[in-house]
Amino acid sequence: IIQISGLNKWFGSHQVLRDINLNIPAGQKVVVIGPSGSGKSTLIRCINRLEPFQGGEVVVDGHALSGLRRLEAVRREVGMVFQSFNLFPHMNVLRNVMLAPMKLRGLSEAEARTRAMTLLERVGIAEQAAKSPAQLSGGQQQRVAIARALAMEPRIMLFDEPTSALDPEMVGEVLDVMRGLAGSGMTMIVVTHEMGFAREVADRVLFMDRGEVLEDAPPADFFSRPRLERTRTFLQRVA
Ligand code: ATP
Ligand code: MG
Repeated sequence: IIQISGLNKWFGSHQVLRDINLNIPAGQKVVVIGPSGSGKSTLIRCINRLEPFQGGEVVVDGHALSGLRRLEAVRREVGMVFQSFNLFPHMNVLRNVMLAPMKLRGLSEAEARTRAMTLLERVGIAEQAAKSPAQLSGGQQQRVAIARALAMEPRIMLFDEPTSALDPEMVGEVLDVMRGLAGSGMTMIVVTHEMGFAREVADRVLFMDRGEVLEDAPPADFFSRPRLERTRTFLQRVA
């Protein structure tokens, strides 16, 4: 469902992605790890064209992104969840989830409300629908952010360190929602430091360093016998 070939990206004269080649079939769960500044966020932001790139091609569900003028087609197939939840602060939880389907998919108010409530139930937060985001805990806000992304019925979900900003006791509830989503067959790319989640949910773990994908293996192999010394050193620090 995602084909990345020869992807190169620079910020000014600084090359942040170097010749990335990746083929991700529908339904696959990919976890991306690597040191700070290695290009993890930039890579997943290229998949929904939040970042333009200078070389190579990214094809998402048949859409080649480099020449694409209308990004909506891709954006609606690719949901994204960030470290900072980015909910709209002036709208209640329900409205946060209803907004995009009404604006971008033409759902009626009633349809959007039904869909939003179903999703809020799915992430375990229906009772909080009338509250404003600021009244929720971090874990609850992140679950709303996941519901909001799912409301567009994406085929692919990107997560950029979704639990890094959370207090430790709230990490589990967000990972539970993500596990549930993985079980539903969603294609997922997850940047995370949660190695337990990677072991359990990933089909494949990528290790990035300095803009390159240095390792790409199923978790059993990745964690027990990494190919490179650099991966080993990194794992010793995080695991
Ligand atoms: P972290 O683990 O800290 O989130 P990361 O692996 O996600 O790191 P990126 O955010 O993708 O790394 O950044 C890769 C490189 O690109 C870094 O050197 C960073 O400084 C640089 N970079 C990222 N965004 C920009 C930007 N908007 N302008 C210039 N340089 C940027
Ligand atoms: Mg990042």
